[in-house]
Amino acid sequence: GSLTVAELAKKLGKEPSEIIKKLFMLGIMATINQDLDKDAIELICSDYGVEVEEKVVIDETDFESLEIVDDPADLVERPPVVTIMGHVDHGKTTLLDSIRNSKVTEQEAGGITQHIGAYQVVVNNKKITFLDTPGHEAFTTMRARGAQVTDIVILVVAADDGVMPQTVEAINHAKAANVPIVVAVNKIDKPTANPDRVMQELVEYNLVPEEWGGDTIYCKLSALTGEGIDNLLEMILLVSEMEELKANPNRRATGTVIEAKLDKGRGPVATLLVQSGTLRVGDPIVVGSTYGRVRAMTNDIGRRVKEAGPSMPVEITGLNDVPQAGDRFMVFEDEKKARQIGEARAQKQLLEQRSVKTRVSLDDLFEKIKQGEMKELNIIVKADVQGSVEALVAALQKIDIEGVRVKIIHSGVGAITEYDIMLASASNAIVIGFNVRPDANAKRVAESEKVDIRLHRIIYKVIEEIEAAMKGMLDPEY
Ligand code: GDP
Repeated sequence: GSLTVAELAKKLGKEPSEIIKKLFMLGIMATINQDLDKDAIELICSDYGVEVEEKVVIDETDFESLEIVDDPADLVERPPVVTIMGHVDHGKTTLLDSIRNSKVTEQEAGGITQHIGAYQVVVNNKKITFLDTPGHEAFTTMRARGAQVTDIVILVVAADDGVMPQTVEAINHAKAANVPIVVAVNKIDKPTANPDRVMQELVEYNLVPEEWGGDTIYCKLSALTGEGIDNLLEMILLVSEMEELKANPNRRATGTVIEAKLDKGRGPVATLLVQSGTLRVGDPIVVGSTYGRVRAMTNDIGRRVKEAGPSMPVEITGLNDVPQAGDRFMVFEDEKKARQIGEARAQKQLLEQRSVKTRVSLDDLFEKIKQGEMKELNIIVKADVQGSVEALVAALQKIDIEGVRVKIIHSGVGAITEYDIMLASASNAIVIGFNVRPDANAKRVAESEKVDIRLHRIIYKVIEEIEAAMKGMLDPEY
C-alpha cells in the first residue's frame, strides 16, 4: 500500500517537514502530498525504529488460507482412513463386505447397514474407517480435486491370479499420493493359490515383504471364508500407529465429501468425512460451493448421531445444493457467514470454470522451469508392448536438463485410459502414448482436465520432444 508524506508523518507522529528532510537525505525529493512507495515507507520507518506491519488479506473463500494450525498439544490419536484397491475380481468388494459384516453388527446390534460411502469398524477398542467404494476411481477423483483422505491403502491381489495391470495402477496411485500400502494376498482358500508368487511379483514394485528384509506388510487371507481378516485389521492398526495419525477434535470441523446425492424426500444428502474438529447438528457449514446448517446426521448403520469427531463418516442433510465428492467442507461461526462464503465460493467456481485450469503441458514447461516452479517432470507412459514401455522408461529417466529430471509415476501396456488421465491430473503429469491412443473416455476426460497427451511411434522422437520442451526449444504446434 502507499501513503502520502503527510499521512506517513501523521502515523509516525512527526512533522511532514522532518520526513521530507529525511527523504532528501536518502536521495528522494518529495512534496507533502506525494505518494511514497513501499520501499521509501520502509526506509523512513526503520529510521525511526518502527516496524512496518503489512496487512495480510485473507481470502475467505479459500479454505486453505482459513485453515488454522493446531497446537501439537491439542492433537489426539484418530482412526486411520483406509481405501481398498486392486485388480478387478481380486476380491475388493468381498473384503469390504466381510470386514463390515464381521465387525459392525457385533458392535451395534440392531443397526441396519447403510451404504453411505464409508463405514467404521472397531478392532481391539480402536476404530478403523473404510471408504466403501472399491477401486482407484474414487481415490483418484478425490486427489484430482486436491483432497487427500486416505491414510492407508490395502492392495488386494488374488493369490491364484497374481499381479495384473490394475494392481500396478493401484500401486502407482498410492505411491503418487505417498500413502503406505498393506498387501492383502486374497483367495488363499483356493487350491490354485500361490501367495509366494504374488510376493515375488510385487518385489519388482518395491513392495518387499518383511520376512524378506523389506518393510511391506503382507497379509494372507480369504475374503470369502474370513480367514486372516482379523490379522489384516490388526496390521492396519499397527501401520496407523507408526504413521502417528492425529487430529484436534476441539475445533470447528473441516473435512471432505465422500459422496453426495439428491434425495427426493430429504433434499441434498452428503456423506462427510470429518478430518479435523467435531461436526455437530446445527453447525453452519460450507461444503464445496454449497452451504447450509447441519439438520440431521446419521452414521453408517442409520443411527441418528449428534456429533462426529475426526475420521468419522456421517451422512448429513440441510445443504442448499448437492456438493461433489472430493469437495472440502468447513464449519463457520454463524449461518450468515456460511451463506456469504458459500455464495462467494460458488461465484468463484463459475469464474474458474470459464478460465482454463493450468496443468503442466510441454508447451509451457520451459516457462515453469525458468520460474523455478518445477524440479521434476511427472510422466505417465503407455505403450503397445512391455519392451517398449521398458525402453522408454529407461530413456526418459536418463534425461537431466539443468537439474530438472523426469519422474515416471506410472507406466504400462495398453491404451491410454481414463484412469491414466485422472492420475495425470492428480499428479500434474503429462501422458505419453507409444503406438497406443487414448480411448474415447480418456480423450473426453483429458479435454476437461486439460491433461497433455503426446502420441509417438519412434522412441528417440519422444526423448527429443521432451528435451526440447525442457530447453524451451519446442517447435510450436499449428
Ligand atoms: P472385486 O472386483 O475386486 O470387487 O472382486 P469381488 O469382491 O467382486 O470378487 C470377485 C469374485 O471372487 C467373486 O465371485 C467372489 O466371490 C470371489 N472371491 C472374492 N474373495 C474370494 C476368496 O477369498 N476366495 C474365493 N474362493 N473367492 C473369492
